Amino acid sequence: MNANWKSRAALELVSIRAQGLFKTERIIASPQDAVIRLRDGREVINLCANNYLGLANHPDVVRAAQEALARWGNGLSSVRFICGTQMLHRQLEERLSEFLGTEDTILYAACFDANGGVFEPLLDERDAVLSDQLNHASLIDGIRLCKARRLRYRNLEDLEAQLRAAADARARLIATDGVFSMDGTIARLDRICDLAERYDAAVLFDDCHAVGFLGTTGRGTHEYRGCMGRPDLITGTLGKALGGASGGYVSGPNEIIALLRQRSRPYLFSNTLPPAVAGGALKAIEIATRDAEFRERLWENTRYFRRALKQAGFDVPEGEVHPITPIMLGDAVLAQRMAERMLERGVYVIGFFYPVVPQGTARIRTQVTAAHRREHLDRAVEAFIAVRNEV
Ligand SMILES: *Cc1c(COP(=O)(O)O)cnc(C)c1O
Repeated sequence: MNANWKSRAALELVSIRAQGLFKTERIIASPQDAVIRLRDGREVINLCANNYLGLANHPDVVRAAQEALARWGNGLSSVRFICGTQMLHRQLEERLSEFLGTEDTILYAACFDANGGVFEPLLDERDAVLSDQLNHASLIDGIRLCKARRLRYRNLEDLEAQLRAAADARARLIATDGVFSMDGTIARLDRICDLAERYDAAVLFDDCHAVGFLGTTGRGTHEYRGCMGRPDLITGTLGKALGGASGGYVSGPNEIIALLRQRSRPYLFSNTLPPAVAGGALKAIEIATRDAEFRERLWENTRYFRRALKQAGFDVPEGEVHPITPIMLGDAVLAQRMAERMLERGVYVIGFFYPVVPQGTARIRTQVTAAHRREHLDRAVEAFIAVRNEV
């Protein structure tokens, strides 16, 4: 490659490092779990996986994936519409629809692709999309790919104002995360649906950080907010609570899903989900729906950990509880140093700072899972206290 390209990239990397924003990947030498082994042989408590139900390495999920691999092969070497749809893929789509309370579901390679492919076929320049300012990057990118007018909102009041401003559009679509991943705050989906009704808008929510465990039976944010059946479209991932592998989906009315199968580009031009991944996800959904114990342990751990952190004097947000618990620190350098010291003490956590979160709101984000035991959480809190005293 031309030397100019290389030096440009090198310069950019220097600038990323200089801003303290360089991300180093830790290399793990074990499966994903409550405790993981690092390359140097150390075992650390993991508080930063989206493995909410602890199913990523559950023996039944692993076995189901192995069985699907043996029965259906490694992959389809094709996209869905050419020769890539197996019985297994339809079965997973039907199971998801049943679980989410929708008519039909379309699978994608990832939720990033689902969000990337859902807007463009449904909206054009005559329409308007109203997007929460804290939405996930994949929603933002998906919205960029469609020609609709784009309106960002900050809160419900602002959403109402934007809906009024978009009254002249042919159609309005509100897009929001179900749970916002940096704070673990849960969208007021019920109130959003009220506004949508009043201003004749449709609602799409991305439930990656809720599907499988939020709500009385774990169906997600719509169940938690008591508005099942009201939002129009749901997107989500199979890569977090539901087995932790990969895969995403859009779920909603028959006609919309049928149209996405005809027109959605990440679906049309990208390979079918590997059978092993589909088989593992089906088992994860089966466990999540059959066995309330995983969900209960997750919420018990969440409440226990939050209470312990609060009692130790850490600044964790009040209000509604989600397994994402941010420990607010304010200062980016402090967040990074604390995270490093935590790892030295055998607890793996990550510091988040600007531009991932607003300036001055640096934090360590923790996530507990159903796989954590009390002793893990106690040790983590002890480590937080010790590290606070050090820094
Ligand atoms: C993780 C996440 C995604 C991406 O999901 P993948 O299946 O990993 O692509 C999309 N949206 C939100 C809100 C997420 O948290």
